[in-house]
Amino acid sequence: MNIEISQIANLPSRFGNFKVKAFKEACADGCKEHLVIYKENLDETPIVRVHSECLTGDAIGSLKCDCRDQLEYALALAEETNGMVIYLRQEGRNIGLLNKINAYALQDKGLNTIEANHQLGFAADERTYEMVTYILHHFNIHKIKLLTNNPDKINSINDIEIVERVPIIMDSNEFNEDYLDVKKDKMGHLL
Ligand SMILES: [Zn+2]
Repeated sequence: MNIEISQIANLPSRFGNFKVKAFKEACADGCKEHLVIYKENLDETPIVRVHSECLTGDAIGSLKCDCRDQLEYALALAEETNGMVIYLRQEGRNIGLLNKINAYALQDKGLNTIEANHQLGFAADERTYEMVTYILHHFNIHKIKLLTNNPDKINSINDIEIVERVPIIMDSNEFNEDYLDVKKDKMGHLL
């Protein structure tokens, strides 16, 4: 993999004082830039959250999903436990923003999140996690506790020993209840 890596910078945030480092994938089209947010004195076996970009949730505060709550929880926990958040720019489970909005339009017509993705010609989940292994090895981390409800994620992260799964439990709201039910019933999430 041809990856460009930034310097380390300080990022004071409402969740605590972090270090940040960016990783840019070199590619012909749609090069992705990812961000690692971490504490300077990282725990030896840190709690790591792998968060995939969700512009509507993370930045706009959409109530259709639980992404922003999960991100905020993960950052607060990173501060508390000397952990790390790997923010991967794979928007909309990696179908991109435009396709995600088209999927939302189909959901407005009554399809669930999986059916909508299928109708657009995508798998329910198109995300990949090679970057996670690359990034963790870059930090010389070989053992982590993974903050996730998604058992698939444990199997998707290769060459890293996951010594523990730390659950991330969020309250639902009237808009994301159905979405969370699909995650639980059809995508195997442990909610
Ligand atoms: Zn989201």
